[in-house]
Amino acid sequence: MTNDEILDDAELFLARTSLRLIGPLPGECLVCYLARMLGEWGCRGPRFIDHYRDTVAPRATALRERLSRMGACCCDCEVFLNVYELRREPPPIGGIERILMEFDEDLDPDEFGDGFDDEFGDDPTSSGGERPPCQGVRRGSTQPCANWQRQYRARYW
Ligand SMILES: [Zn+2]
Ligand SMILES: [Zn+2]
Repeated sequence: MTNDEILDDAELFLARTSLRLIGPLPGECLVCYLARMLGEWGCRGPRFIDHYRDTVAPRATALRERLSRMGACCCDCEVFLNVYELRREPPPIGGIERILMEFDEDLDPDEFGDGFDDEFGDDPTSSGGERPPCQGVRRGSTQPCANWQRQYRARYW
């Protein structure tokens, strides 16, 4: 093995490692990704939202705007403060809400919400926090997977 090959290997290794550390996993949804990153690194502003968009959904140019309308204008952590929380019930499998979400990126899933509300106990963004594995979304989607539901308290409380 030449020095060049060793160097290539090392670079590849580093690239793979950093991809694993800061990149979204295949099929991982935006919100699970953010929860994982905030757990690992803490909040660093809106950088992981941008990174997810750049990596997975480069065409979702309105993502930040959509999130700000929902209450996360300036920071990744606001997604968990104002927008999404862990669903406390088993995720529905293949309901109409899910199907609609798959087809329409801009559709707010809360329009079809079930009104389910519960105390937000464990912090899903803490590294030791309770966080189910991502249920997966199709590539290019910026919707959360079935682990998450929109927070309702901000609007009604
Ligand atoms: Zn923050
Ligand atoms: Zn997910």
